[in-house]
Amino acid sequence: MSPAERRRTLEVLDRLERAYPDARCALDFDTPLQLLIATILAAQAQDKHINTVTPGLFAKYRTAADWAEAPLDQLEVDLKPTGFFRNKAKAVKATCQALVERHGGAVPEDLDALVALPGVGRKTANVVLGNAFGHPDRVATDTHVLRLSARLGFTEETDAAKVEADLEARWPAPRRTRACHLLQFHGRQVCVARRPRCDACPVNDLCPSAFRVEAEAKDEAAARRPRPAKKVGKKTKKAGPARRGR
Ligand code: SF4
Repeated sequence: MSPAERRRTLEVLDRLERAYPDARCALDFDTPLQLLIATILAAQAQDKHINTVTPGLFAKYRTAADWAEAPLDQLEVDLKPTGFFRNKAKAVKATCQALVERHGGAVPEDLDALVALPGVGRKTANVVLGNAFGHPDRVATDTHVLRLSARLGFTEETDAAKVEADLEARWPAPRRTRACHLLQFHGRQVCVARRPRCDACPVNDLCPSAFRVEAEAKDEAAARRPRPAKKVGKKTKKAGPARRGR
Protein backbone atom coordinates (compact mmCIF):
# COMPACT_ATOMS: atom_id res chain seq x y z
CA MET A 1 0.00 0.00 0.00
CA SER A 2 1.34 3.44 -0.89
CA PRO A 3 2.02 6.02 1.86
CA ALA A 4 -0.82 8.18 0.47
CA GLU A 5 -3.22 5.25 0.64
CA ARG A 6 -2.11 4.48 4.18
CA ARG A 7 -2.74 8.13 5.16
CA ARG A 8 -6.20 8.02 3.55
CA THR A 9 -7.09 4.83 5.42
CA LEU A 10 -6.04 6.27 8.78
CA GLU A 11 -7.85 9.53 8.10
CA VAL A 12 -11.06 7.60 7.33
CA LEU A 13 -10.74 5.67 10.61
CA ASP A 14 -9.96 8.86 12.57
CA ARG A 15 -12.97 10.69 11.20
CA LEU A 16 -15.30 7.74 11.78
CA GLU A 17 -13.93 7.53 15.32
CA ARG A 18 -14.90 11.16 15.87
CA ALA A 19 -18.33 10.57 14.31
CA TYR A 20 -19.10 7.42 16.33
CA PRO A 21 -17.30 7.59 19.67
CA ASP A 22 -19.88 5.19 21.14
CA ALA A 23 -19.52 2.53 18.44
CA ARG A 24 -19.50 -0.96 19.92
CA CYS A 25 -20.57 -4.52 19.31
CA ALA A 26 -24.27 -4.33 18.52
CA LEU A 27 -25.14 -7.62 20.26
CA ASP A 28 -25.73 -7.61 24.02
CA PHE A 29 -23.80 -10.18 26.06
CA ASP A 30 -22.06 -10.72 29.38
CA THR A 31 -19.92 -13.79 28.62
CA PRO A 32 -18.10 -15.31 25.62
CA LEU A 33 -20.73 -18.10 25.53
CA GLN A 34 -23.55 -15.57 25.33
CA LEU A 35 -21.86 -13.70 22.49
CA LEU A 36 -21.16 -16.93 20.62
CA ILE A 37 -24.83 -17.94 20.87
CA ALA A 38 -26.08 -14.42 20.03
CA THR A 39 -23.86 -14.29 16.94
CA ILE A 40 -25.19 -17.62 15.69
CA LEU A 41 -28.75 -16.42 16.31
CA ALA A 42 -28.09 -13.10 14.54
CA ALA A 43 -27.64 -14.81 11.16
CA GLN A 44 -30.35 -13.49 8.78
CA ALA A 45 -31.73 -11.30 11.56
CA GLN A 46 -31.31 -7.80 12.94
CA ASP A 47 -28.98 -7.52 15.94
CA LYS A 48 -31.51 -5.22 17.62
CA HIS A 49 -34.18 -7.90 17.35
CA ILE A 50 -31.85 -10.59 18.70
CA ASN A 51 -31.15 -8.36 21.72
CA THR A 52 -34.85 -8.48 22.57
CA VAL A 53 -34.86 -12.29 22.57
CA THR A 54 -31.55 -13.20 24.22
CA PRO A 55 -32.21 -11.99 27.80
CA GLY A 56 -34.94 -14.61 28.22
CA LEU A 57 -32.83 -17.30 26.55
CA PHE A 58 -29.75 -16.54 28.63
CA ALA A 59 -31.82 -16.67 31.81
CA LYS A 60 -33.08 -20.13 30.86
CA TYR A 61 -29.87 -21.59 29.36
CA ARG A 62 -26.94 -20.56 31.52
CA THR A 63 -24.18 -22.96 30.48
CA ALA A 64 -23.05 -24.75 27.33
CA ALA A 65 -24.32 -27.97 28.94
CA ASP A 66 -27.80 -26.42 29.32
CA TRP A 67 -27.94 -25.76 25.57
CA ALA A 68 -26.31 -29.09 24.69
CA GLU A 69 -28.73 -31.17 26.77
CA ALA A 70 -31.93 -29.35 25.81
CA PRO A 71 -34.28 -31.39 23.58
CA LEU A 72 -34.12 -30.14 20.00
CA ASP A 73 -37.88 -29.59 19.78
CA GLN A 74 -37.77 -27.41 22.91
CA LEU A 75 -34.88 -25.38 21.47
CA GLU A 76 -36.87 -24.91 18.28
CA VAL A 77 -39.77 -23.47 20.27
CA ASP A 78 -37.49 -21.17 22.25
CA LEU A 79 -35.54 -19.97 19.19
CA LYS A 80 -38.59 -19.48 16.96
CA PRO A 81 -38.61 -15.67 17.42
CA THR A 82 -35.10 -15.46 15.93
CA GLY A 83 -36.15 -16.84 12.52
CA PHE A 84 -34.71 -19.87 10.72
CA PHE A 85 -35.17 -21.51 14.09
CA ARG A 86 -34.76 -25.14 13.00
CA ASN A 87 -31.28 -24.56 11.60
CA LYS A 88 -30.34 -22.29 14.49
CA ALA A 89 -31.52 -24.80 17.09
CA LYS A 90 -29.41 -27.51 15.46
CA ALA A 91 -26.39 -25.21 15.17
CA VAL A 92 -26.55 -23.97 18.77
CA LYS A 93 -27.03 -27.48 20.14
CA ALA A 94 -24.16 -28.92 18.05
CA THR A 95 -21.84 -26.05 18.96
CA CYS A 96 -22.55 -26.42 22.66
CA GLN A 97 -22.19 -30.21 22.54
CA ALA A 98 -18.72 -29.68 21.01
CA LEU A 99 -17.89 -27.07 23.67
CA VAL A 100 -18.79 -29.56 26.39
CA GLU A 101 -16.94 -32.48 24.78
CA ARG A 102 -13.80 -30.63 23.67
CA HIS A 103 -13.43 -27.68 26.03
CA GLY A 104 -15.20 -28.60 29.26
CA GLY A 105 -18.06 -26.22 28.39
CA ALA A 106 -15.80 -23.15 28.00
CA VAL A 107 -15.49 -21.07 24.84
CA PRO A 108 -11.88 -21.38 23.62
CA GLU A 109 -9.91 -18.16 23.15
CA ASP A 110 -8.36 -19.42 19.94
CA LEU A 111 -9.33 -18.92 16.29
CA ASP A 112 -8.54 -22.45 15.11
CA ALA A 113 -10.41 -24.04 18.01
CA LEU A 114 -13.40 -21.75 17.44
CA VAL A 115 -13.71 -22.39 13.70
CA ALA A 116 -13.43 -26.12 14.39
CA LEU A 117 -16.77 -25.91 16.26
CA PRO A 118 -19.80 -26.88 14.18
CA GLY A 119 -21.71 -23.82 12.98
CA VAL A 120 -18.88 -21.39 13.71
CA GLY A 121 -17.18 -19.62 10.79
CA ARG A 122 -14.35 -17.10 10.77
CA LYS A 123 -16.70 -14.14 11.12
CA THR A 124 -18.34 -15.51 14.27
CA ALA A 125 -14.96 -16.58 15.69
CA ASN A 126 -13.53 -13.09 15.12
CA VAL A 127 -16.59 -11.44 16.65
CA VAL A 128 -16.11 -13.53 19.80
CA LEU A 129 -12.34 -13.00 19.97
CA GLY A 130 -12.57 -9.27 19.28
CA ASN A 131 -15.46 -8.46 21.59
CA ALA A 132 -15.83 -11.09 24.30
CA PHE A 133 -12.08 -11.66 24.72
CA GLY A 134 -11.02 -8.11 23.88
CA HIS A 135 -8.56 -8.91 21.08
CA PRO A 136 -8.09 -5.58 19.26
CA ASP A 137 -6.73 -7.13 16.06
CA ARG A 138 -9.75 -9.13 14.82
CA VAL A 139 -11.51 -8.41 11.53
CA ALA A 140 -15.08 -9.74 11.49
CA THR A 141 -16.41 -9.45 7.95
CA ASP A 142 -20.12 -8.98 8.49
CA THR A 143 -22.41 -7.49 5.87
CA HIS A 144 -21.57 -3.86 6.81
CA VAL A 145 -17.82 -4.43 6.85
CA LEU A 146 -17.98 -6.14 3.45
CA ARG A 147 -20.12 -3.42 1.87
CA LEU A 148 -18.22 -0.44 3.28
CA SER A 149 -14.77 -1.89 2.65
CA ALA A 150 -15.67 -2.16 -1.02
CA ARG A 151 -17.19 1.33 -1.21
CA LEU A 152 -14.29 2.92 0.62
CA GLY A 153 -11.81 1.23 -1.71
CA PHE A 154 -10.22 -0.82 1.08
CA THR A 155 -10.53 -4.01 -0.98
CA GLU A 156 -11.45 -5.22 -4.44
CA GLU A 157 -12.20 -8.72 -3.19
CA THR A 158 -15.68 -10.07 -2.54
CA ASP A 159 -14.77 -13.34 -0.84
CA ALA A 160 -14.98 -12.76 2.93
CA ALA A 161 -11.67 -14.47 3.77
CA LYS A 162 -9.83 -12.39 1.14
CA VAL A 163 -11.48 -9.18 2.35
CA GLU A 164 -10.38 -10.09 5.88
CA ALA A 165 -6.79 -10.51 4.66
CA ASP A 166 -6.90 -7.16 2.80
CA LEU A 167 -8.21 -5.35 5.86
CA GLU A 168 -5.60 -6.99 8.08
CA ALA A 169 -2.92 -5.69 5.73
CA ARG A 170 -4.46 -2.22 5.66
CA TRP A 171 -5.58 -1.56 9.24
CA PRO A 172 -3.08 -1.32 12.11
CA ALA A 173 -3.49 -4.41 14.33
CA PRO A 174 -4.51 -2.47 17.48
CA ARG A 175 -7.35 -0.74 15.59
CA ARG A 176 -8.98 -3.60 13.68
CA THR A 177 -11.77 -4.67 16.06
CA ARG A 178 -12.59 -1.02 16.60
CA ALA A 179 -12.54 -0.32 12.85
CA CYS A 180 -15.20 -3.01 12.38
CA HIS A 181 -17.43 -1.32 14.97
CA LEU A 182 -16.97 2.02 13.18
CA LEU A 183 -17.87 0.57 9.77
CA GLN A 184 -20.88 -1.20 11.30
CA PHE A 185 -22.18 2.03 12.85
CA HIS A 186 -21.50 4.03 9.71
CA GLY A 187 -23.15 1.31 7.62
CA ARG A 188 -26.29 1.42 9.74
CA GLN A 189 -26.57 5.19 10.01
CA VAL A 190 -25.18 6.76 6.83
CA CYS A 191 -23.64 4.36 4.32
CA VAL A 192 -26.76 2.21 4.14
CA ALA A 193 -27.06 -0.48 1.51
CA ARG A 194 -29.42 1.02 -1.08
CA ARG A 195 -29.19 4.78 -0.70
CA PRO A 196 -26.04 5.84 1.11
CA ARG A 197 -26.32 9.39 2.42
CA CYS A 198 -23.09 10.61 0.87
CA ASP A 199 -24.04 14.26 1.40
CA ALA A 200 -24.03 13.67 5.19
CA CYS A 201 -20.94 11.45 5.21
CA PRO A 202 -17.88 12.68 7.10
CA VAL A 203 -15.52 10.87 4.71
CA ASN A 204 -17.12 11.73 1.38
CA ASP A 205 -13.99 13.57 0.20
CA LEU A 206 -11.94 10.42 0.87
CA CYS A 207 -14.33 7.86 -0.60
CA PRO A 208 -13.98 6.67 -4.20
CA SER A 209 -17.68 5.72 -4.28
CA ALA A 210 -19.01 9.05 -3.03
CA PHE A 211 -22.22 10.08 -4.82
CA ARG A 212 -21.81 7.20 -7.25
CA VAL A 213 -23.55 4.27 -5.57
CA GLU A 214 -27.08 5.55 -5.99
CA ALA A 215 -26.45 6.82 -9.50
CA GLU A 216 -24.96 3.48 -10.53
CA ALA A 217 -27.87 1.60 -8.92
CA LYS A 218 -30.28 3.76 -10.96
CA ASP A 219 -28.32 3.08 -14.16
CA GLU A 220 -28.34 -0.65 -13.44
CA ALA A 221 -32.07 -0.61 -12.72
CA ALA A 222 -32.67 1.29 -15.95
CA ALA A 223 -30.54 -1.20 -17.88
CA ARG A 224 -32.53 -4.10 -16.40
CA ARG A 225 -35.91 -2.52 -17.14
CA PRO A 226 -37.55 -4.19 -20.14
CA ARG A 227 -37.53 -1.92 -23.18
CA PRO A 228 -40.90 -0.97 -24.62
CA ALA A 229 -41.76 -3.14 -27.56
CA LYS A 230 -41.19 -1.50 -30.91
CA LYS A 231 -44.35 -0.09 -32.40
CA VAL A 232 -45.50 -2.27 -35.14
CA GLY A 233 -47.18 -0.63 -38.08
CA LYS A 234 -50.87 -1.21 -38.96
CA LYS A 235 -51.59 -4.74 -39.85
CA THR A 236 -51.55 -5.06 -43.54
CA LYS A 237 -54.31 -6.97 -45.17
CA LYS A 238 -53.38 -10.40 -46.11
CA ALA A 239 -52.55 -10.34 -49.73
CA GLY A 240 -55.30 -12.07 -51.63
CA PRO A 241 -54.72 -14.22 -54.59
CA ALA A 242 -52.98 -12.35 -57.34
CA ARG A 243 -55.41 -10.83 -59.79
CA ARG A 244 -55.23 -12.27 -63.12
CA GLY A 245 -54.61 -9.79 -65.80
CA ARG A 246 -57.50 -9.27 -68.20
S1 SF4 B 1 -19.21 8.82 0.68
FE1 SF4 B 1 -21.10 7.65 0.40
S2 SF4 B 1 -20.44 5.63 -0.35
FE2 SF4 B 1 -18.63 6.65 0.57
S3 SF4 B 1 -18.59 5.94 2.70
FE3 SF4 B 1 -19.70 7.89 2.66
S4 SF4 B 1 -21.87 7.29 2.48
FE4 SF4 B 1 -20.62 5.50 1.90
